[in-house]
Amino acid sequence: MKILIAGGGIGGLTAALALLAKGHEVLLFEQNADMGEVGAGLQLGPNALRVLFSLGLEEALTQVSFEPQGIELRDHASGRLLTQIPLGERARARYGLPYFHIHRADLHRLLREAVAARSPGTIRTEAKVNGLYQNAGSATLILEDGAVESGDLIVGADGIHSAVRTALFGAQKPIFKKMMAWRGLVPAERLKDAGLRPVVTSWLAPHAHAITYYVRGGELVNFVGVVERDTWVSEAWMEPGSREELRRDFGSWHPTLSTVAEAVEKPFRWALHARAPLASWSSGRVTLLGDACHPMLPFLAQGAAMAIEDACILTASLETAPVPDALARYEAVRKPRASKVQAQSEANAGLFHLAHPVMRRGVHFAMAAGSKLLPGFTASRYDWLMKYDATEAL
Ligand SMILES: Cc1cc2nc3c(=O)[nH]c(=O)nc-3n(C[C@H](O)[C@H](O)[C@H](O)COP(=O)(O)OP(=O)(O)OC[C@H]3O[C@@H](n4cnc5c(N)ncnc54)[C@H](O)[C@@H]3O)c2cc1C
Repeated sequence: MKILIAGGGIGGLTAALALLAKGHEVLLFEQNADMGEVGAGLQLGPNALRVLFSLGLEEALTQVSFEPQGIELRDHASGRLLTQIPLGERARARYGLPYFHIHRADLHRLLREAVAARSPGTIRTEAKVNGLYQNAGSATLILEDGAVESGDLIVGADGIHSAVRTALFGAQKPIFKKMMAWRGLVPAERLKDAGLRPVVTSWLAPHAHAITYYVRGGELVNFVGVVERDTWVSEAWMEPGSREELRRDFGSWHPTLSTVAEAVEKPFRWALHARAPLASWSSGRVTLLGDACHPMLPFLAQGAAMAIEDACILTASLETAPVPDALARYEAVRKPRASKVQAQSEANAGLFHLAHPVMRRGVHFAMAAGSKLLPGFTASRYDWLMKYDATEAL
């Protein structure tokens, strides 16, 4: 089949690689010139790594990742440990695969290189998709410069502002979640005395939380901070913020966290938005994957993982039936899982930002007690997420 992919993010590139591996002809259209990724970290659980390893990326990913020893939830002020999930060897034993932290740019580069190694002409940059049309036998992408390209299937992997989604189902209104996020990366050598542990830490505060973890083999520390705000900032990830404002938000937190925030030299910020779930992801010879069809709040660290799983299952569906039946199969398998992850991500916002003092104390007490008395239970609550095998889901 000839398959056209709109968008060269993590989802689009994974789809290109998986489809090429099955012998399809693939053309991927990315609007940006340099195909770079923003400077930010990404957590990749075993469910995402299972797919990426199956595409031959195990060795390359292992070289550029950081393997955390656990996930820890701590109080933002005292630093008290509330609950933890062991990772490292324990994750490998439980899931048969590791849990990695990676720099987004590193993952993006590895995917690009793998696609180019399989088929050098696949990726077209500075190729913005503006629209599409289709009939029973083919689907055609319309590019901004007026060029058109036809194929058997179009995959919209063009992210939260998807032009393919708009062409299929009309414009979708973003719902501002009254939260603003900060992000930044800090060289780890500048944080030697900060007391950072080799884990991913979620620091929980009333109306706010922050996440810290190492990426790139421990060379860099990734910082994300989320605060509740009524005011609107841009949804784009590249809006610079001021260090003074960042200090106002996190300067009074536990010294480990405030030291990381203080060390962020170029903070960026963006507003968190949600989209109402789509009734359908596909129409005729066109379908969507990743943030284009199920954007989610980043509170379960699974948005990219869902795009990666989508790519794997879409590819497998095409082996089982012709389009459009294959797309119906893909959607039937993916929608329930992606919706559950979306809902769980949203629920975590409430849990992380608990503000009522009594509720907060009660929930934190229950977390700490549960973690001590039933350590295996906390980890087992995520088995449905981490043990999922997209390579065998069909
Ligand atoms: C703070 C934060 C932390 C996160 N942490 C994690 C994490 O730890 N783990 C995880 O799994 N997920 C995480 N996510 C979610 C993850 O980043 C996204 O879900 C993921 O990037 C979605 O990938 P995608 O390929 O669907 O879309 P995108 O990454 O948005 O890629 C879309 C691509 O399409 C291109 N494009 C857009 N429009 C057009 C057009 N008209 N024509 C051509 N090209 C176009 C864009 O330039 C882009 O390259 C996080 C998100 C945030 C905000």
